[in-house]
Amino acid sequence: MKLIMLGAPGAGKGTQAKKIAEKYQIPHISTGDIFRANIKGQTELGMKAKSFMDQGMLVPDEITIGMLLDRIHEADCAGGYVLDGFPRTIPQAESLTKALAEMGTGIDYAINVDVPDDNIVSRMSGRRACLNCGATYHVAFNPPKTENVCNTCGQSLVLRDDDKPETVKKRLDVYHQQTQPLIDYYKKAGVLKEVDGTQNMEDVFQSIIKVLGAE
Ligand code: ADP
Ligand code: ADP
Ligand code: ZN
Repeated sequence: MKLIMLGAPGAGKGTQAKKIAEKYQIPHISTGDIFRANIKGQTELGMKAKSFMDQGMLVPDEITIGMLLDRIHEADCAGGYVLDGFPRTIPQAESLTKALAEMGTGIDYAINVDVPDDNIVSRMSGRRACLNCGATYHVAFNPPKTENVCNTCGQSLVLRDDDKPETVKKRLDVYHQQTQPLIDYYKKAGVLKEVDGTQNMEDVFQSIIKVLGAE
């Protein structure tokens, strides 16, 4: 199964993508996580991406598309995957559609996790991220077992630089301008599924399973 998670920054794409990946035993591919791993490792790709990310802007398509297409051609992607944070622009979506068509396949579902802007700022300011394993928590809605320590790998959690309120506002503007049009793109392609992302995490997950028709 090949899935795309759509939604504003902080809508819960990563949270749900992790649960989906576990249930269906497919890789969770987050372009944000790949960029952050490259920044941590001080690679050339990471250095290029960092300045855009810090400003709440998108990393240019020339960098992002090639990186994602390389990833989905890896062996573990043969049985499907869940994409989290890609595509974010129409050219990214078109490149993905074309690459998949060349492989004789296509996306099964694009799941839009719908959350109004008003809810986003509180979700982002409370988000705590593990830069080691990609897990995310929320100080109020999903706290780790030990304060500021990742349940999965034991590393310290951080408030991402780009989750500060000034940058979140910029990221929301970028979302509305560049990413929201993808909802229509996938609606026209006949694969869009909408879920109400304002429910609690478990209910959002149950809604997703229901629309996937799995249970
Ligand atoms: P969130 O999950 O909060 O939306 P991400 O971890 O997906 O954040 O992305 C963090 C940042 O990484 C984005 O603000 C952007 O700068 C960059 N990024 C991630 N995915 C993409 C993409 N597909 N295209 C361009 N930039 C991206
Ligand atoms: P995205 O990947 O779309 O940027 P995340 O999955 O990282 O979003 O979630 C953003 C923040 O909101 C995190 O702190 C997460 O723990 C929290 N969160 C995710 N889903 C929900 C939900 N349904 N209700 C409340 N908080 C949530
Ligand atoms: Zn961790």
